[in-house]
Amino acid sequence: MSQELVCSFCGKKRAEVKKLFSTETAAICDECVKLCDNVLAQESAQHERKAFSRGLPRPQEISAFLDRYVIGQEVAKKTMAVALYNHYKRIERPVSKGVELEKSNILLIGPTGSGKTLIAKSLARIMNVPFAVADATALTEAGYVGEDVESILSRLLAAANFDVELAQKGIVYIDEIDKIAHKGESATTGRDVSGEGVQQGLLKILEGAEIYVPVKGSRKNASAETVLFDTTHVLFIAGGAFVGLEEQVKKEHSKEMGFGRKGVKKTADFKPQPKDLVHYGMIPEFVGRLPVIATLQPLSRADLVRILKEPKNALTAQYEALFELDGIELAFEEAALERVAELAYEREVGARGLRGILEEKMLPLLYELPGREDVGGCLITRGFIDGAAEAILTKTPQRQSHG
Ligand code: ADP
Repeated sequence: MSQELVCSFCGKKRAEVKKLFSTETAAICDECVKLCDNVLAQESAQHERKAFSRGLPRPQEISAFLDRYVIGQEVAKKTMAVALYNHYKRIERPVSKGVELEKSNILLIGPTGSGKTLIAKSLARIMNVPFAVADATALTEAGYVGEDVESILSRLLAAANFDVELAQKGIVYIDEIDKIAHKGESATTGRDVSGEGVQQGLLKILEGAEIYVPVKGSRKNASAETVLFDTTHVLFIAGGAFVGLEEQVKKEHSKEMGFGRKGVKKTADFKPQPKDLVHYGMIPEFVGRLPVIATLQPLSRADLVRILKEPKNALTAQYEALFELDGIELAFEEAALERVAELAYEREVGARGLRGILEEKMLPLLYELPGREDVGGCLITRGFIDGAAEAILTKTPQRQSHG
């Protein structure tokens, strides 16, 4: 063939692109491949949403969807999938066989950075409903300075673009719920009144009530417009670390069994009962409104490595995409990821430490590489993470990619 090879899609010449794939009759450049890939990804996301809008996703489908975003936490994912399914089934049919199906809000117990917020957010994504996060420690009893309980609903309303009907089917995650436990009976200062007051305040919205909610700003703003918000169909997920709960339960249990105190071993199948939560400082009525309890496990180093690379929007994939915009193919050595996981593990904040560590390590590269015309590939090694070596830069991509 004497004619110069060009991309059959955009017409660019070989010299104008990074790569040109060709057969005898046609050619396509790397830029067009990427473009097609983006279109496919968008279509598949749309298809995913359509599949669900045809009907309520079944628990197994929900669990499989969660698998794409949440690493580990298998038991919690199953429990949540069933709870979500039942919740929305109940909205569709509040009564079955003459039996009224009761609302089941959820309590998620697990250490910081183990995926509680992520699971709650992913559930909202599956159902394509609005989602809001609230922090229980910022809430105060009515009449005190701070956020009132209604502010949670305002936030949900905002997430629904002020569509009240849609907001009423949304999901709310209330974080740090354990921090509003009242202090133990032995506390000399007596009860933590504010904590208990907030629990009381939350009761009515958890159960289902019609509440006037300010559309914008706080209710202290007299001119603010309000709407009547029915919380009957809102799914509330309360989450907390409940530090010391497992030890408390196991100590009580071994005392009852007459084993004495042999030290408390943490186990993967720990499941607190409502009475344990009451002992911890939650008021019985509050615990009663969170009938589904799911526990999350601390993440292991191996889980953290998986979190770095496996979820759909994994951190490493995000960095790779970022570098790709500058025409640089970024790759991470497995040992480098293990080292990042190890550093995060030492911080004891679960997967939360990963982003900060990577950001810190990647910053010099993010600063330097966009201006380097001579770099096509960048390999992150363990030595680089440790600060003992430079990243390996090459003119052409490092990794053996397809094609
Ligand atoms: P928390 O349990 O404190 O609510 P989050 O869900 O907010 O933790 O997680 C903090 C960060 O760590 C998020 O960026 C989240 O994506 C990530 N993460 C935490 N747990 C997991 C997990 N099991 N799988 C994947 N990513 C996780």
